[in-house]
Amino acid sequence: MSIKVFNLHCNNEHIFEGWFSSHNEYEEQISKNLITCPICSSSTISKLLSTPYIGKKRSNTLEKTQSNGDLNRTSLEQQAKTIESLRQIINKAENVGNSFAEEARLIHSGESQKTSIKGTISLDEKKELEEEGINIIPIPNFLDDDLLQ
Ligand SMILES: [Zn+2]
Repeated sequence: MSIKVFNLHCNNEHIFEGWFSSHNEYEEQISKNLITCPICSSSTISKLLSTPYIGKKRSNTLEKTQSNGDLNRTSLEQQAKTIESLRQIINKAENVGNSFAEEARLIHSGESQKTSIKGTISLDEKKELEEEGINIIPIPNFLDDDLLQ
């Protein structure tokens, strides 16, 4: 059985990990407000990223959330907080430039102590990483400035 680990965040911007046996289990727990923030006990929880790895590709679309409908519930305020959290992760991530794929593998195998990295990869490398079970997320174009610092 595979376990899915999601980075979740509450409406007070605490970030924590949630472990689920499947995406459906996550959806079910979210819909029943069974997930609460371990820091402030808030049950207003959103999924942030699948893993802390940061990738980059040419796309101006944010990763879509997997919720079934209910998009209206995602307020602009919530989105702004998600983007702010993403920005913080990007700022803290170590820039490894073109070594991203290599570094991501070392982190995945436990050989690297780095926690989050950012850099550039080709579409082929992205596909290879995904096949190896290493999830990466695209940095939206409007956050490119953070990556390039
Ligand atoms: Zn909280």
